[in-house]
Amino acid sequence: MTTITLVQGDITRQHADAIVNAANSSLLGGGGVDGAIHRRGGPAILEECRALRASRYGKGLPTGQAVATTAGELDARWVIHTVGPVYSRSEDRSELLASCYRESLRVAGELGARTVAFPAVSTGVYRWPMQDAARIAVETVRSTRTAVEEVRFVLFDDLAYEAFARQT
Ligand code: ADP
Repeated sequence: MTTITLVQGDITRQHADAIVNAANSSLLGGGGVDGAIHRRGGPAILEECRALRASRYGKGLPTGQAVATTAGELDARWVIHTVGPVYSRSEDRSELLASCYRESLRVAGELGARTVAFPAVSTGVYRWPMQDAARIAVETVRSTRTAVEEVRFVLFDDLAYEAFARQT
């Protein structure tokens, strides 16, 4: 059984085996949670991201997929980078958002991570409505078979925390 916990705060301050990054497909850094992770985690993370771009992901990491790097100076062993979909009103991209959680858990399981901290993927610059994103996140984690023991959602503000609390 995977335990779901909710925390309000900054994901870069968390102690967990793996911290998930809401990355963009370039893997070369961005704003929001991505910027915060690279700032606090130091250059080792970006170095591995660059190596991944030069080898496995020449065209970038596809939306809905996940890949791990070192966590650098963060209080974690790995950062798992996943690329959320940009929200669209005309096209249902829910399956891609669910895939971010499933694939991150798959990568975490392969690494042997027991605790994984997730941000609310796609709810910032990618504009996914918070309540719907919370529903997809929680339903996906609940329905995914994984050896990960704790999934911790780290929500940046009150609104995000309350949206996730309504789903748990
Ligand atoms: P995306 O491009 O997937 O939308 P963002 O980083 O823009 O990613 O936002 C994703 C969510 O992460 C937003 O709800 C945002 O408020 C939140 N966020 C931003 N910085 C942090 C942080 N340091 N810790 C946790 N959550 C954060």
